[in-house]
Amino acid sequence: MSTRLWIPSIITENKSLKPYTTMKVGGEARYFAEVKTVEELKEVLLFKKRVNLPLFILGKGSNLILGEGNLEAIFVLNRIQFFSFDSDAVTVGSGVNVSYLAQKVSKMGLGGLEFFSGIPGTVGGCIVMNAGASKKETASALLEVTTLDEELKERTYSVDELEFGYRKSPFLKRDESIIFAKFRLFMDIEAEEKRHAILTHRLKTQPYTVPTAGCMFRNPSGHSAGQLIDSCGLKGLEVGGVRVSQKHANFFENVQNASAKNILDLVERVRYEVKKQTGIELELEVLPCFTTCTPIQQHPMGS
Ligand SMILES: Cc1cc2nc3c(=O)[nH]c(=O)nc-3n(C[C@H](O)[C@H](O)[C@H](O)COP(=O)(O)OP(=O)(O)OC[C@H]3O[C@@H](n4cnc5c(N)ncnc54)[C@H](O)[C@@H]3O)c2cc1C
Repeated sequence: MSTRLWIPSIITENKSLKPYTTMKVGGEARYFAEVKTVEELKEVLLFKKRVNLPLFILGKGSNLILGEGNLEAIFVLNRIQFFSFDSDAVTVGSGVNVSYLAQKVSKMGLGGLEFFSGIPGTVGGCIVMNAGASKKETASALLEVTTLDEELKERTYSVDELEFGYRKSPFLKRDESIIFAKFRLFMDIEAEEKRHAILTHRLKTQPYTVPTAGCMFRNPSGHSAGQLIDSCGLKGLEVGGVRVSQKHANFFENVQNASAKNILDLVERVRYEVKKQTGIELELEVLPCFTTCTPIQQHPMGS
């Protein structure tokens, strides 16, 4: 007699992931859950033990190219969102949008997080990617990170215990879900003005009204990837519904229902031209996940 798998009510089956990435690509998740609390995340981790599938945390999906078709994994949409203020720090749920966080604290006259303004990711995703802008990065503002491992054990790391690099953190390779983090704050009556200036500059120089995943390539040492692509005359190049943005050449725009394969074909085309014309090899910043069509790098299944 076969026993039917009991699926917790928080989990749905065969869910399209397109709406959950900013590039609007992705196939169907075998299992999908939106979690708003750590307890809900624990429930999903217990389910993972029973079905023995990889678990992948989605923040805002703003640094991802997800493969097409049936994706045999449990996708967890992280919406753990809370704030707790100390005198000189804030502890935040990992599902909070960092741009909103920057706005909230700068409106209180507190500085340190303005650089997050306009980055569409979550606290968790920005720690994993060590996201940065305006010459600052997530690690420089971070004090502590708290995670949940697959055995449901909570761990708190101080930032000094973690080795961050340019758009890199140890969490890219760990089976741990970030549940909350503590950031340093200081009094700055000009914080809101600075945040506003950063946001205004972004809206002027980057495409925000079309689906993108932010910067496609990492900046090679001493160069700007966007300027290299532009200098090779590739702005506006379009392949299979994806286009190199006219506004910022390191952003690729999904203009016509493109697939992961279409995007990665354009990635290859741009890399080839830039290498041919400048001798510089571009490396992806965006993570291709659950796709077999990239020769460049394959991100592990995530946490
Ligand atoms: C318009 C636009 C502008 C952008 N500007 C910038 C910029 O200025 N600077 C910059 O650095 N980036 C930028 N980005 C890229 C992106 O926003 C960042 O990389 C961001 O850190 C991704 O966060 P996310 O929540 O969307 O993560 P996702 O893309 O959802 O996930 C990224 C990785 O983190 C993992 N992850 C996410 N949350 C957790 C968690 N709680 N626990 C464990 N693992 C987790 C995922 O599994 C995945 O491996 C931009 C993107 C767009 C679309």
